[in-house]
Parts: sequence; C-alpha cells; structure tokens
Amino acid sequence: MQDPSPSAVIKPEVRGLTAYTLKHFDAEVKLDQNENPYELPADLKREVVDRVLRRPWGRYPEFIPTAVIQTLSKFTGWPEEGILVGNGSNELIQASLSVTLGPGRRLAVPQPTFTLYRLMATTLQADVNTILLDEENLTFKVDKLIEASRTADVVVVCSPNNPTGGLLPRESLPELLKNAKGIVLLDEAYHEFSRQTALDLLPHHRNLVVLRTFSKAMSMAGLRFGYMMAHPEIAREVYKAKLPYNVNIFTLAAAEIVIEKRATLDRAIDALIRERDRVFRELQNRRAVRAFPSTANFILLKTARPARDLFDRLYSHGVLVRDVSSYPLLERCLRVSIGTPEENDKFLAALDRALEDK
Ligand code: PMP
Repeated sequence: MQDPSPSAVIKPEVRGLTAYTLKHFDAEVKLDQNENPYELPADLKREVVDRVLRRPWGRYPEFIPTAVIQTLSKFTGWPEEGILVGNGSNELIQASLSVTLGPGRRLAVPQPTFTLYRLMATTLQADVNTILLDEENLTFKVDKLIEASRTADVVVVCSPNNPTGGLLPRESLPELLKNAKGIVLLDEAYHEFSRQTALDLLPHHRNLVVLRTFSKAMSMAGLRFGYMMAHPEIAREVYKAKLPYNVNIFTLAAAEIVIEKRATLDRAIDALIRERDRVFRELQNRRAVRAFPSTANFILLKTARPARDLFDRLYSHGVLVRDVSSYPLLERCLRVSIGTPEENDKFLAALDRALEDK
C-alpha cells in the first residue's frame, strides 16, 4: 500500500468534498433551518403515541408500509405503486441519484441550490453540470437549464428553490420534461408555501419524479419523513436502492395521522405565508437591505456588510439565521426562516440594531 493513511481507500472525489454539516447554535429565536415554528397540536401528538403504544416495538415495521402509502395515495391522487417513503426526503434524493448516476453519468443542477444534490452526485463520481441562476435576480435561467437537460441523465430542480425562494416558472416544466434526456427530479420541499405543484404533470411525463418532505410545512422535521412520486416503473427501480425498514413505526404512525388531520395544519401554513409576505415588505422598507421575493417559508437577503459579521451581530442579539455567503452568487447573503410573528419582529429589531452597529 503506497499511502499508509486509511483514508487512501476513499474515492478522491469524496476526499475533495466538504461535508454537509451545520454547527449547532442555541438561540432564543431559531430561524436557520426552515422549520415550522408551530408545533403539532398536543392531542395529535398523543394520538401518535397511543397508536405506537399498541404496536410491538420489538418487531420490524412492515416491509412496505402499506397504510401510510395508501393514505398518501388518497391524499395526492397518485397510485400507490408510484409512491416511495423515506426517512426524510434526503434519503430519497440519495436513493434516486444512486440508481441513476455514476462514473460517466451527468447531473444538471441550477446553482445556488440545496447542497445535497451536488454532494451526492460527486460521491457517486458523476459529472455535475451547474447552471447558474440569473446573477442579478437569482431566478432560474430556463433556456440554459433546458439546454443542459438534453445531455444530462438527471436534472434536479428545487422549486421553490432553497436558499433563494424562487419558483421554476410553471409553463417551462412541460418543455423541460419533453427535452430532458433523462429524469427530472423536482424537489417540492416547500411547495405548500408556494401553492404550486407539478403533481398534475405526473400522468403525462414518465420522466418526472416529485419529492416532498414532512420537515417543513408538516412540522415533522424531528421525526424524519419524506416521500417520492414517480411513474411506477421508476419507483420500482429507486426502491432497489432504498434501505429496508427505512421508516420507523413511530414516524409511520405520525405521518398517517398528520395526513389524516392535514386540515389542522392549514392555519399554520396560512399564517406563515402571511408572515413571509409581511417580513418581505418590512425588509423592502429598509434601504440597507435587498430582499429577494420568496414563495417559500424563508427569505434571502443581501446587505453591504460581510455576511459573517451580520450573522454574528444577529446572533449576539439572540437571533440565529443561516449564513449562505459561501454559495455561488450569494456573497453577503443571509437566509432567514419565517417564524411566529413575535419571532419575526425580534428578527427585524435585531437586524435594525445589527445594521446600526458600527
Ligand atoms: N430538499 C430541500 C430543498 C431542503 O431544503 C431540505 C431540508 N433542508 C430537504 C430536501 C431535506 O428534507 P428532509 O428533512 O425531508 O430530509
């Protein structure tokens, strides 16, 4: 062995990567992970616990969690054979990329976006073709994306896009799907806040894969649940790369109950949308800040200050946001999640103080 280091066996592409990680900070106002600030109602949580108490914990969950898949199928109108569930949608991103990408295969992905897609593709030793967003407005460059899709095995589009908040224009999707050589993975993690989905295109495009999560609007980030919808032929293949028993009985029970009681979450989603629009207007009133229009539960903002400096000042005032300044095109940008009205007011007050600080 030439190199005595045990990590010599790790693929060079992986050794060259920076891990996807987040430092843990405690803060009075936590607006850094696009979580839902409204907890699930206590009686709903109790129902989950009661249901799980009636199940044997020493037994594996079902191989295919039929009950939750049936509930999702009823909720979405998409057939059960085309639905896969995951331990968070991250797991389904990994599974779908691992059956499609490898050496000599290509991912096309807009940039800046959620970092996991590129990270997974690089780990799989695939080529990554990044299509920068518009430099000024941070919107999708649709023509460039369609052009790139012609030679890519997989196109991933996060819409609304994290961390910029913009949507892929609805009318461009059929064209993208028609031109794409391979599959188009549409990450709808934030779709409840944009009220736009590509679900209705699924029956017409066999290369469309839609991913969703319960970590944002559905207030279940701590329980880890996501699902994928695709043509059954694709779902069958992705299924092969998914770990067995990937979703635990606790999460399965919670997901079922949350879908059944979905209406109880609607008020929180409406409140977050209203607050997003209010915070956006408030930010627009501040000359020192540029806020980018968002259709998600977060807002990207840019100031003249170095992002790390502003992040530290906000943190010293008790408000935790996300420093996204290392992403391409996002120098001097921070991302703030939408919280409760009180939390958002604290953020705005902290921002004013931080911008005044010399
Ligand atoms: N997709 C996007 C665009 C996200 O922002 C996130 C969470 N940050 C995820 C997927 C992951 O969601 P989950 O918690 O379901 O793994």
